[in-house]
Order: sequence, then structure tokens, then C-alpha cells
Amino acid sequence: MLWYVGVLALVLIAFSITVYALLAAILYDSLDTELGATINETSLSLVHEIAVEGKGGRDAAASVLDEHIAPRQAAAIFDSEGNLIAEDTAQGGIHATLPSMNLVPQSDAELYTLPSGQGNSVTSRRVAIRRVNIPATNNSYIVVISQPFDRVNRELRLFRIILALAVLAALVLTGAGGWFLARRSLAPVVEMTERAHRISAENLEQRLPLTNPHDELGHLAATFNELLARLDDAFGQQRRFMADASHELRTPLSVMRTATGVTLEKGERNESEYREALQIIDEQARRLTRIVEDMFTLARADSGRRAVNFHDFRLDELIYEVMRAAEVLAGRKGIRIDVGKLPLMPYHGDEGLLRQMLMNLLDNAIKHTSSGGLVSLQTETHPTRYTIIVIDTGTGIPTEAQSRIFDRFYRVDKARSRAYATEIGSGAGLGLSIALWIVEAHHGRLELQRSDQTGSAFAIFLPVNNSH
Ligand code: ADP
Repeated sequence: MLWYVGVLALVLIAFSITVYALLAAILYDSLDTELGATINETSLSLVHEIAVEGKGGRDAAASVLDEHIAPRQAAAIFDSEGNLIAEDTAQGGIHATLPSMNLVPQSDAELYTLPSGQGNSVTSRRVAIRRVNIPATNNSYIVVISQPFDRVNRELRLFRIILALAVLAALVLTGAGGWFLARRSLAPVVEMTERAHRISAENLEQRLPLTNPHDELGHLAATFNELLARLDDAFGQQRRFMADASHELRTPLSVMRTATGVTLEKGERNESEYREALQIIDEQARRLTRIVEDMFTLARADSGRRAVNFHDFRLDELIYEVMRAAEVLAGRKGIRIDVGKLPLMPYHGDEGLLRQMLMNLLDNAIKHTSSGGLVSLQTETHPTRYTIIVIDTGTGIPTEAQSRIFDRFYRVDKARSRAYATEIGSGAGLGLSIALWIVEAHHGRLELQRSDQTGSAFAIFLPVNNSH
């Protein structure tokens, strides 16, 4: 605001000075014009009176002065030697005086300024002087007329005061207006700042006030609110993750404590009882290990510290390998595995991660398929991408659960999958989350293609040449 007023002050002052200078020039000029006109008229009359009417010099001079000279003007007429022959003093007894004779012009009128304090005058005066030649008598006279600057000076002084007051008023008004506008337009910022001060991790659901969503500050507040919403979301996810994780970890721990508690309750136990207890503890410890490993994988993936090690390998070979491992699990449940003949599938990616991803999907397929079912894997090769589809003839996923199966810790039937979890997979609801992350790390897509009572199909789309 100060800058604004400062610049405006400079502009106004420059403007005022220019206007003042112009006005002063015009006023001084009009004074000269007036004085010039008076002296010319006086001279003409003098010539007329002497040459035409034949009056004597003194008479003629006295009568022309009487006729042409205004009360504010002082005038005097001298003969060619410089002797005063007629005079008309101005108010205040001010005389028109003759300058030294060599300053008297030959013909045209001449104007000069007499500083204040000369010839009884308190103000400076403008003086016109002219030599009047009378051809008939071959005589010449000198006419001097002076007029004070006081009226012009008064007008200019008044104009100065008006200008100063106008500039001052304009500056005060714009200053006050600018202050008011700045305060008004910055008020939302003040409010936003105060509100933002009070927002912390505990009350991330709060939002900044949106005064006008169409101006820049509104945009800023809206953007900030979107940021808050994302943060709120992320924090919520983090909290849920913590809650779910601790819940998942509690179950195996409490099973283990029950096993040890029951076993140790009685002093004497035979070997088979100890063996049974240790078996339970071993199973639960494995389960804990899997859950913690899965959580660790996801945590590192989130923080971007799990580097994806891309290298060249054969995807078809990896699929055969994973299918052989799955066959062992499936065989125990009486499930058939089918993969058919795969084409050559050279690929550039992280073999370890892709193995884990396929294993998770096959684990799920086997887990949810009952004895006598079929788990099959189909591939499609396309110049720019590979499609791998894992199909089972299992129980399928309820429609309402289908959108959530990729969420962390989400399980459709908690009791069932946990009971089965001792055999295969973590069963903590992290398997698909990890698979999804792995596919996305390869710039691909993983989606549930179909799921109903006849079974499910998961499709993996992997772009070829993804990060060469
Ligand atoms: P988990 O590690 O517990 O198996 P996932 O993230 O792999 O968890 O799967 C989440 C949920 O999706 C599972 O609880 C399961 O109910 C369901 N699901 C996943 N794959 C299948 C499938 N092939 N058939 C039926 N349900 C499935």
C-alpha cells in the first residue's frame, strides 16, 4: 500500500508541477499581452493627438494617460531627452521610472521585469517601454507603463494551494481505500492462516474456509483442502493398517499362548503332548513370519525402498516353475493344475517379485477351490504386452466383496481363510495387495476378470519392453 501511495504521489506531483508551469506561463504571457496592448494604444493615441489634433506634447501626454491607463498601472511619458512631461501614478504612489537611456528601444515596445522593492513597489512589476516618433514634428517621446505581478501571483498562489490540497486529498483517499481493499482482500488469507494453524494430525478432517471459490485465494484454499483430504485419507489408511495389522498379529500369538498355557498347566506331560503343543506353536510362528514378511514387503514398497531389480529372463519358464510348485499344493487337495503349452515369452522385469505375485494368485485359486476342481493358467502374447489369466473353479467372490479384495487386510470370510491359512499363504488379506503392487511396479494391470459360483479369473497385463 505504501509503495502504491508513494508511486501515486510521485505521479501526482509531477503532473501538478507540469500543469502549474503551463498555467504560470499562460498567465505571465497574458499579462504581457495586456501591457503590450495598452502601450500600443497609448502610443497611437499620443501620435494622433499631436500629429492630427495638433495638441502640445504635455497636453497630449496628460490626456492619453488619463484615457488609457488603468488604476493598477503606473505610467509616465518622457521627452526624447528623458525629462518627465506627464505621469499617472498607480495606487500606493507608485511611479513609472525611466531606465537608463541606453536601455530605451528605438521603435518596438520592450518588456522587462522590475524586482520588488523598486520604485515604491512591494511586489515585482512588469514594465513596458516604447519610443514614439512623431514624424510631423520630428520629435520623439518615451512611454513607460508598469503593472504589478500581484494579481497573477495571487492566482498562482491560490492554484498552488488548490493543487496541494487536491494531491493531499487524493493521496489520503487512495491510501485509505488501498488499506481498506488490502485488508478486505487479505482477510481470507488471515482466516485461512488461523484455521491452518489449528489443523494437525488429530483433526485432519477440518477444512479451510472457502470465501469465493472463483478467485485465486479460493483456488488456493480449494487446492489446500484437496491436499488435506488426501492427507486425511492417507492417515486414515495408515491407522486402519495399524489396527488391522495388530489384530492379525494378535490371533496367532494368542493361539500360541493358549497352547503353552494348557501344556504347562499340568506338571507332567508325555512326549506326544509336548510335540502337539510345539507343532501348534510352529504353525503359528510360521504364520506370524508370513504376515510380518508380507507387511514388511508392503511397507518397503510404500516407502519406495523395495527396489525393483529389472533383468532379462523367460516368463514362460517362470510360469512353468511356479505351476510345478503349485501342483504340489494342489495335489494334496485333489485339484488338477493345467497350463498347456506356453509360447516363448522373453521378458524384462523382477523375476523374484513376479514369482511371488503368481504364487499369491495360485495360492488363492487353490485355497478357494475344492477337491476335484481345476486351476488353469492361460497366456496371450501380443507384440506390446503379455496377458496371463489365472482361472479356478472355486467358490467365487461375492459381488459386494469384489471391489475390496485388493485392499490390505481385506478377507471375504475371515474365519474360513484363517483356518486354512496354516497350510497355504498368509491368509491375512495381504496376498492380493502385494500382487497388485508387483504388477503395478512393472507398469502393468491386475484385475478380477470374472467371479461367480463357477469360479474366478484374475487377469495380469504386463507390458513388454516396459523399462528398457
Ligand atoms: P489372503 O492372503 O488372505 O488370501 P488376499 O488378499 O489374497 O488375502 O485375498 C483377499 C480375499 O479375496 C480373500 O479373503 C478371499 O476371500 C478372496 N479371494 C482371493 N482370491 C480368490 C479366489 N481365487 N477365489 C475366491 N476368493 C478369492
